[in-house]
Amino acid sequence: MERLNSFKFDEGQSTQTLPQKPSPMLLLTDSRPRQKDEVLRVQEPDNDIKLKTEEEDEKADKNNCSKEFLKFSRKLANLMTQHLQQKTDVLMKFISYSGSVISVIYGISGLTAPNLSELVTIQIECLEKLWGSYKEMISYSKNKKICIVKSEDWSRLYSKSDFRTAIKELVVNTKTKFSSLDLSLMCQIENIFEFFSSTLYYVNLIFSFMMIQKDQSDKGKYLRELKTIENFLVMMLSADLYKNYNHRSGKFAIECCGKCKVCRSKNISPSFQLQLERGRTKSDLMKTFISISITDLTNVSDDTIFNFFNLTATYI
Ligand SMILES: [Zn+2]
Repeated sequence: MERLNSFKFDEGQSTQTLPQKPSPMLLLTDSRPRQKDEVLRVQEPDNDIKLKTEEEDEKADKNNCSKEFLKFSRKLANLMTQHLQQKTDVLMKFISYSGSVISVIYGISGLTAPNLSELVTIQIECLEKLWGSYKEMISYSKNKKICIVKSEDWSRLYSKSDFRTAIKELVVNTKTKFSSLDLSLMCQIENIFEFFSSTLYYVNLIFSFMMIQKDQSDKGKYLRELKTIENFLVMMLSADLYKNYNHRSGKFAIECCGKCKVCRSKNISPSFQLQLERGRTKSDLMKTFISISITDLTNVSDDTIFNFFNLTATYI
């Protein structure tokens, strides 16, 4: 059902981005012989329409945010992939921390904990595949018709339950051999898998959100300077809101125009306003924590990582 709804929604969005203006080539190819006065009668209204359309297009372009989310997604996917492939120090700190948390749950369940290095490897492998497939989905070379990111693709990254499903699929199909980590056992024991996937979900959320706020490279600056970045941060924390976001206007359903497909969609929940407010509060909480606790990405203390996980697991 969700797939069906989002498909409709995405289609509606994509039609808005199609060019409305007739091609100038079409105007030139009409070579029928005409009477003098006929030419005048035909050309005047044509020119009027053309001028008006160009003016409208210019105005629409300034306010049109349709491509913002794609630009955001591509840049963020590149940034995340870069950290995962290079196993940067800052990433390894977070992944090692979550690895040690995961190993504790093995102990609590009366099982021998796998080696920390293997818990680190499986987490990186899962995130690399997850971001890799997202990147492929939104790339022009693989997906020529793409003009908007589908809600189910976004949800695989930032909705806790869809992330869990995606990770299970990836773990089940992992070919990597581990000496101390039994992946099929991990998937079979509900407690362990639940804990593994939610910890990894928080790693993904915390790390990507932190990168947008703090990364000092061109990629980080680019992300922070996007016109509608605040809305994207909110949709990272409340992925459900994505279905009711108008990409063209860069606004959420109840704050848009009241007339468009997104505003008039039947799937706006009665609690949407509350959901939106909560999403914004969560985003502010994350931003405040980062601005107070993290000054330098090369020097994030263990205490900060512990507090960050605690805050996210409790309030997000
Ligand atoms: Zn609207």
